[in-house]
Amino acid sequence: KPRVFSGIQPSGGLTLGNYLGALKRFAQKQDEGIETIYCLVDLHAITVWQDPEALRRQTREAAAAFIASGVDPARSILFNQSQVSAHAELAWALNCVARLGWMNRMTQFKDKAGKNAEKASLGLYAYPALMAADILVYHATMVPVGEDQKQHVELTRDIAAKFNHDFKVDFFPAPEPLIEGTATRVMSLRDGTKKMSKSDPSDASRINLTDDADTIAKKIRKATTDPAELPGEIEGLKDRPEARNLVNIYAALADMTPAQVLGEYGGKGFGTFKPALADLAVEKLSPISTEMARLMADPTEIDQILGQGADKADAIARPILAQTYDIMGMVRSR
Ligand code: ATP
Ligand code: MG
Repeated sequence: KPRVFSGIQPSGGLTLGNYLGALKRFAQKQDEGIETIYCLVDLHAITVWQDPEALRRQTREAAAAFIASGVDPARSILFNQSQVSAHAELAWALNCVARLGWMNRMTQFKDKAGKNAEKASLGLYAYPALMAADILVYHATMVPVGEDQKQHVELTRDIAAKFNHDFKVDFFPAPEPLIEGTATRVMSLRDGTKKMSKSDPSDASRINLTDDADTIAKKIRKATTDPAELPGEIEGLKDRPEARNLVNIYAALADMTPAQVLGEYGGKGFGTFKPALADLAVEKLSPISTEMARLMADPTEIDQILGQGADKADAIARPILAQTYDIMGMVRSR
């Protein structure tokens, strides 16, 4: 039976990259009638330092962003990870299945640990095993993510296969990464070779879902670009990462293909294209930020949604964790 699981870290305010690469597609999967489980992965967020008050606010704000983007708590399970302890428990078991050599190949750790990896937390290193637990504890079969998470979903498949092999069972299904659309890797507005990220120190590098219309327009106007006009064909974007990024963003926001966008704007300069993109971004994002502000006015409603979601998630995860322990030989007597 198909089951979707995905998560977002409440490690900052959510960005246009999170919206196009994740949130918008989360709502689409739900609307296709598939069982959908979405998680604010606060245990992942603390792999780098989080101020406790900021983490609390960011978690509620991220929940508001999910709901404002069309994730309906009546049709999807929406909760924060730390309220369902099976995630952390299965992660420990999977830490003992995953191999150091596999972890050493993970590019996200290298990117986030930076030059001084000795100073990174042990949690940041083990992050992919926790992510595998998030997915496998629901026997999820589909994981909608951005391009940057493909390697972690593939590792999850390897961990599932090794568990099944070691214990001679057919227990964990191999989840498929779903990486679809034209915005699977939205790039920084300042550097077309870097992913847009909520944790980038430069606020100008990203559009936040809470940015107002003027801020969005200003950030797009100031986005780094080359001076040439937009090409008429996709091939013309090949060595122009910044131009390609803005065209892809336009396409994803407008539900068009990049070729259709170039059909409209090919031959025109950024002086024309950037204001059009800014208008489109404001048109699509302002209803979301308005709804987020409304929801944030009373966090008790959000907390209630997360608590109820956690109960539903726990009801699925707990028996799968119990079966896992049983397979591994843990005595279960209570
Ligand atoms: P951080 O910098 O803290 O890692 P992030 O912006 O990368 O934050 P995550 O919480 O790590 O966000 O990722 C949540 C989801 O959003 C994942 O599915 C990820 O692939 C997707 N995502 C993140 N950034 C982008 C992006 N620039 N383009 C498309 N999808 C993205
Ligand atoms: Mg990330």
